[in-house]
Amino acid sequence: MSRVYNFSAGPAVLPEEVLQEAADEMLDYQGSGMSVMEMSHRSKVYDNIIKTAEQDLRDLMNIPDNYKVLFLQGGASQQFAMIPMNLMKNGVADYIVTGQWAKKAWQEASKYGKANKIASSEDKTFSYIPDCSDLPISEDADYVYICENNTIYGTKYKELPNTKGKTLVADVSSCFLSEPVDVTKYGVIYGGVQKNIGPAGVVIVIIREDLITEDVLPGTPTMLQYKTHADADSLYNTPPAYGIYICGKVFQWLKKMGGLEAMKKHNEEKAKILYDFLDQSEMFKGTVEPASRSLMNVPFVTGDADLDAKFVKEAAEAGFVNLKGHRTVGGMRASIYNAMPIEGVEKLVAFMKKFEEENA
Ligand SMILES: *Cc1c(COP(=O)(O)O)cnc(C)c1O
Repeated sequence: MSRVYNFSAGPAVLPEEVLQEAADEMLDYQGSGMSVMEMSHRSKVYDNIIKTAEQDLRDLMNIPDNYKVLFLQGGASQQFAMIPMNLMKNGVADYIVTGQWAKKAWQEASKYGKANKIASSEDKTFSYIPDCSDLPISEDADYVYICENNTIYGTKYKELPNTKGKTLVADVSSCFLSEPVDVTKYGVIYGGVQKNIGPAGVVIVIIREDLITEDVLPGTPTMLQYKTHADADSLYNTPPAYGIYICGKVFQWLKKMGGLEAMKKHNEEKAKILYDFLDQSEMFKGTVEPASRSLMNVPFVTGDADLDAKFVKEAAEAGFVNLKGHRTVGGMRASIYNAMPIEGVEKLVAFMKKFEEENA
């Protein structure tokens, strides 16, 4: 067996330990005589899996009791609609557009109400986070929406926007559990898990209880109401059971690693190795304003599309895969999520140095 260093933006690398454990438990989960894939989501065994996963996530993020944790389906993209359907009581929301995912969320919300784009960084290909200290927040806005880490462009909010008292809603798909967060600053935190937590097919929504009401937009399907899932503890219908089980294992792995403070240190250390190299390289350049750099997604270019392609190809041959940048940005992108070991980044940088010498 040989495993590569996988720099995919998502679905992405998972801790090897977790995969090994899942493999060991594949045929017979803890004496149940069956795989987690085969068991009833109403069984006692499964109830323990989902309850433990929720508790571990609560411990890791220090989630207060007045927030619900929901394990849902439909990916992060389903939330682009679910959020306005459930939260637009006045029919107004403010969106900060810092990349494609925020833009898609804003466009989707426009179907359901007045979605104001109150700031954007599209003028410079989303290479920075705009100053959000004094934005024209709408008086009747039901919420202010951000995408906290922009997976495609490699930017991250270093400070949350001043929402002037309005509820903050954040898509954290690509920075979920990468560092500690103060949950109380948000009304809703959500993310697809396939970037930093588990297998595609699960989206986790952490939502303050007062935002969960029956007062939703007319016609909102039962399955798209937060209340449906909150009332049923994420077991209204069959949840993505196996995916939640793997998420639970990743939560336990994170606890063992020392929790989110330790993860932050680990991620800062990893990202620094790559950014320090980019800052001194003659050939490779980071594409993001230093003050807005993400710890998770690091886009870079040589400035020459042919050379970029050559690099991506040779890197893959050397065991560093999925480094091709997003089709809208070009160049390269190294996604270095929680489960990417430090030596993966060290070896990648060594490879980049060698490539630079050979192609100078
Ligand atoms: C990947 C991604 C999405 C889309 O996720 P899906 O689960 O494929 O819908 C949305 N937002 C961000 C920040 C992402 O990285």
